[in-house]
Amino acid sequence: MINLMVSGYLVAIYFYHEREQAFLSWALACGCFVVGSLILLVQYWLAMSLSIPGYMLLVFSSCLLLRGVVQLFQDDNTRMWGAGYMPVFALTALILAMAPVAGISTGGVASLMMALFFVLTERALARQQDSFIVVVVLLRVLMFVHALIMTVQGLSYLLTFETASALSGVGQWSLFSHLLLTVATALTLPMMHAIREKQEWHKRANTDVLTATLTRRGFFDLAAQKLALHGAEPCTFLMIDIDHFKPINDQYGHATGDLVLQQVAQRIQAGVRKDDLLGRLGGEEFGVLMTETTEQEANVIANRLLGQISASEFMGETQQISVTVSIGAMTQVSSKHDLEHLLRQADKALYQAKERGRNMLKFADKTA
Ligand code: GH3
Ligand code: MG
Ligand code: MG
Repeated sequence: MINLMVSGYLVAIYFYHEREQAFLSWALACGCFVVGSLILLVQYWLAMSLSIPGYMLLVFSSCLLLRGVVQLFQDDNTRMWGAGYMPVFALTALILAMAPVAGISTGGVASLMMALFFVLTERALARQQDSFIVVVVLLRVLMFVHALIMTVQGLSYLLTFETASALSGVGQWSLFSHLLLTVATALTLPMMHAIREKQEWHKRANTDVLTATLTRRGFFDLAAQKLALHGAEPCTFLMIDIDHFKPINDQYGHATGDLVLQQVAQRIQAGVRKDDLLGRLGGEEFGVLMTETTEQEANVIANRLLGQISASEFMGETQQISVTVSIGAMTQVSSKHDLEHLLRQADKALYQAKERGRNMLKFADKTA
């Protein structure tokens, strides 16, 4: 009954969450468990052996649980599924079908196979990198304990040739841990999905569609966090503006302007360090925040950028275009970094660089 209810709950979430496949897999997992258990139960009333289809459904149920986790957390899930997990299930099904012929307990083999799928699910959860660590650890512990109990159950079946002992000690433990796991996954997996979705929307809202750099808001949020973290070290901010960009739009069209913008952003991204923050602060204006960077170090990086951009040809719609940029920079050594001040000073320096002829770097006047 609990599995049936959880299954219905997950189907409802599947439709609510724009048909996210993972929920369907988990709903089916619960459904397979219910049908498999019923088959194993009615076979005694019908006085016929249905243990192979019954156990196969139970194993398939744990396989579907794994599938849901893979679908939710792994981007290359179809490849993982086709190449890795599905063949394991096919092999399991074959071994199960052969078990009675070989004279070994179907229930024992099924329990061990289920244990294997729970371990694989635990491993799949361990690989995902998101931030809801406590929930994931709880689920992994439950998976692992359940796998352990299923292993003990499987071995006890295999060693005693006892096929159905749902009321024996191990059987009760396995039922208990199964229910615990079902309820825990039903509660936590939708939550993990919701958190993940929120993170994705957040990332999307903070990413500029054209250049894939941070948006102005995203840049300001992250820059403030970074500056707070690196309070004691010198930090440098670069304001980079493409020179004479309007004539490029006017001469070659807006689409070419967009292409140039994209490529300049890529060039800047490639020219700064991995930890530096890059954002598009305005139309053709980019900001780079470099923490733990002195004026001398920033001077080298910014001049290298100037050189690389002016030496490059950027691909327009039909022709190659050369552009230059001007850079205004400001280094703050104080222990209290002020983002607004950094930006204002770098902007003034940029204005001076433009006035003095463009394609150059200008540091803000310290006395200003
Ligand atoms: P300066 O050297 O003084 O910076 O000259 P500029 O022409 O680059 O500066 P100006 O501020 O006059 O023009 C900026 C242009 O950038 C105007 C605007 O049409 C263009 N622009 C802003 N956003 C986009 C965009 O997303 N795509 C394209 N193609 N152009 C954009
Ligand atoms: Mg410009
Ligand atoms: Mg501008």
